[in-house]
Amino acid sequence: MDNCLFCKIAAGQIPSNKVYEDDQVLAFHDIDPQAPVHFLVIPKKHIDAPAALTGEDAPLVGHIFAVIAKIAADLGLENGYRVVTNSGEDGGQTVHHLHFHVLAQRKLAWPPG
Ligand code: AMP
Ligand code: ZN
Repeated sequence: MDNCLFCKIAAGQIPSNKVYEDDQVLAFHDIDPQAPVHFLVIPKKHIDAPAALTGEDAPLVGHIFAVIAKIAADLGLENGYRVVTNSGEDGGQTVHHLHFHVLAQRKLAWPPG
């Protein structure tokens, strides 16, 4: 999609600090990390937000969580991690291309702010 930051990152038009890539997804370090480990996992296909997901996206979302588990194992995050997906204004979404934050290596508070 034109003028979408994460579509441009997925296409390699804007550089990122890549963690993992396959034909469906890209993972890269967040530019403004909120934990010692903070990376994002995005589908290469443009989807606006979690609110735009449909049943047809179920395999893709399942794949994303399997990728997160693989990266977490590769990075040695055996103490745990948090996956966060913000949707819409009240959810705190600022980039309108579906993405999953993965945060780790500090004790994360609950409930979130
Ligand atoms: P959200 O606020 O949930 O939409 O998350 C967007 C995230 O994208 C924020 O954590 C930003 O720090 C991150 N971000 C924005 N631009 C970039 C970029 N060029 N490379 C990596 N992360 C980015
Ligand atoms: Zn996009």
